[in-house]
Amino acid sequence: MLHCPHCRQNSFTVWQKLRFGSRNPITCKKCAEKSFVSIKYSWLLYLMIAGIFLPSVGVSNYLDSPWPMVMALPAVVWLIQWYMTRVPLEALMKEGS
Ligand SMILES: [Zn+2]
Repeated sequence: MLHCPHCRQNSFTVWQKLRFGSRNPITCKKCAEKSFVSIKYSWLLYLMIAGIFLPSVGVSNYLDSPWPMVMALPAVVWLIQWYMTRVPLEALMKEGS
C-alpha cells in the first residue's frame, strides 16, 4: 500500500509515510498530487507496539537486564514497517474542487 491514491503508482516509501501524517501530506513524485496516511487504524499500531514493548519491559525488570527491551526494538521497527506498507493512503483533494 505504497501507491499514490491519485495516479496508482508506487511512489512512496515506508519512511515517507511514517513522517507524513494527515497534517503533513506527501506530494507524489509522479503526479504532484497530495495524499496523507490514514490514521483510522493508528490505534491498532499503538496497541501492537504496546503488546510487544510492555511485556519486554516487564521481562527486563524481572531479569534485571536491558536485553529483552533491546531485542524488542527491531520487532517494533519491523511492526511499524509492516503496518505502514499496509495502511492505505488517502487522497487529499485540492481545496475548492
Ligand atoms: Zn501520484
